[in-house]
Amino acid sequence: MAECIFCKIINKELPSEIISEGEKFIVIQDIKPVARLHLLIIPKKHIPSMNDLGPEDKELIGDMVLLAKKIAKDKGVQDTGYRLVFNAGADAGQTVDHLHLHLLGGEKLPFA
Ligand code: AMP
Ligand code: ZN
Repeated sequence: MAECIFCKIINKELPSEIISEGEKFIVIQDIKPVARLHLLIIPKKHIPSMNDLGPEDKELIGDMVLLAKKIAKDKGVQDTGYRLVFNAGADAGQTVDHLHLHLLGGEKLPFA
């Protein structure tokens, strides 16, 4: 989707702080971090939200969570703790309509 900011980041039409990049995902620093560690795991496939996930995305979602776990380890929060968050829709505060997984940690997180 040409107007999607995460697609633009994936296509390098917008700058971002890239933590890692592979065939299926890009991991970037969140521009407005709410925790000491706040990364976004973004699939390169444009899926607007959780609501648009289908059975064909089973492997993608599994890989996404496993990648988040690996990044958590690489960033040194595996043992101190971390949180993985998918926001879906207005009540959850979803602001970017391209599926992404928040990885939060590096400090004691408030309950959410
Ligand atoms: P959500 O509320 O789940 O849709 O989260 C969207 C996240 O994307 C927010 O935490 C924003 O701070 C982050 N964000 C928005 N634009 C950018 C950007 N250009 N680079 C990095 N993170 C961004
Ligand atoms: Zn997109």
